[in-house]
Amino acid sequence: MSVIDKVVAREILDSRGNPSVEVDVFSGKNQGRFMVPSGASTGQFEAVELRDNGDRFLGKGVLTAVKNINEVIAPKIIGRDIFDQEGLDNFMIELDGTDNKANLGANAILGVSIANLRAAAKARGQWDFEYIGDSKRLPCPMLNVINGGKHAGGDLAIQEFMLMPIGFDKFSDALRASAEIYQQLKKYLKKKYGGIAVNVGDEGGFAPPIQNTREALQALMSAIEETGYKPLEQFHIGIDAAASEFLHDGKYHIDGKQLTPEEFSQYYYELVEEYPILLSLEDPFDENDFDAFASLVSKYGSSRAVVGDDLTVTNVERINTAIDKQSMNYLLLKVNQIGTFTEAKKAFDLTKSQNWGVVISHRSGETEDSFIADLAVGWGADRIKTGAPARSERVAKYNQLLRIEEYLGDEASYNNKI
Ligand code: PEP
Ligand code: MG
Repeated sequence: MSVIDKVVAREILDSRGNPSVEVDVFSGKNQGRFMVPSGASTGQFEAVELRDNGDRFLGKGVLTAVKNINEVIAPKIIGRDIFDQEGLDNFMIELDGTDNKANLGANAILGVSIANLRAAAKARGQWDFEYIGDSKRLPCPMLNVINGGKHAGGDLAIQEFMLMPIGFDKFSDALRASAEIYQQLKKYLKKKYGGIAVNVGDEGGFAPPIQNTREALQALMSAIEETGYKPLEQFHIGIDAAASEFLHDGKYHIDGKQLTPEEFSQYYYELVEEYPILLSLEDPFDENDFDAFASLVSKYGSSRAVVGDDLTVTNVERINTAIDKQSMNYLLLKVNQIGTFTEAKKAFDLTKSQNWGVVISHRSGETEDSFIADLAVGWGADRIKTGAPARSERVAKYNQLLRIEEYLGDEASYNNKI
């Protein structure tokens, strides 16, 4: 039997320069490590990310979470079988004793959960994705090349504008074409708006002085075409509105207007008609408005991805509500929204039981950790969103997918389905 011998947690920095948690789990000569990410446009119902408050790091220190691992969790899990992932996760959930991991912190619990999984993969001599599941399918990347909302300092309400390379047979070709468009977009923006336009936001996408959605979509369309690729045939576009962030006093503040929920629905209908390339709409409405989400699903059926992120926060209870109300047809899955591998898998399985799609996602505050790339392949997730094809904390994931594709050789496939 391979057992946990030692657990060590520490405070590190994430891509925004804020502290985060890193955990090492040791079993014999095998070591598993995980670096926990952190969101900015977080959902109201996410599991609790424990921060120290006080003066250090302007209150954002994570020494309490680190201490919870080193002094509370570690002594109780030494000697556990590293292959009993579910047992470990359930034990930590019980030890925490709250519904939302407020006691020990989801950042503490998740760190241990994934570090254990990786130690187990090492003990089996497997890649993480092989240990996680049987799939050999590479997900379609959603590359966030224009950043707005809380991830940038400008006036663009929509948080993310993403390239979706659908018309390719291999992940590596899809990534190359997307990186080419990213560079062409840089030229386009610089020419049109000046040098300031090519500064980047939290996820590596450009943060140009664009104030409205159509202008950003037009920039993307131009960049796709100027690079020599065919919109619709080879590329689609996804957006993440993260709409809760610009809902104030019952109105959505977007494009210099203040729209009622009904007017905002109409806004989407017109946008999709003008830009049929828009394939994926994430968090199009407030995180509590299951009915407004449902109206988009009933209008578009499966021809558009209506994606729940802040709506469902990788939580089976909220996903069940979304199922009852038919509020979406894609789940955005972020492991740190829920806090253990096992619960994330339950969210994945429940979503798949509906024949819905799953996008595995990074957070806006990331690290060089590439675990989600392996997770997406192992589970056979449909898509992955992990930022622009730039900035190391983003490309760490894309680069891991390149390695996996190479390793799998002829056995690899690529999800180029709409
Ligand atoms: C998102 O909203 O999908 C996202 C990645 O942002 P954050 O990590 O800030 O929640
Ligand atoms: Mg989102």
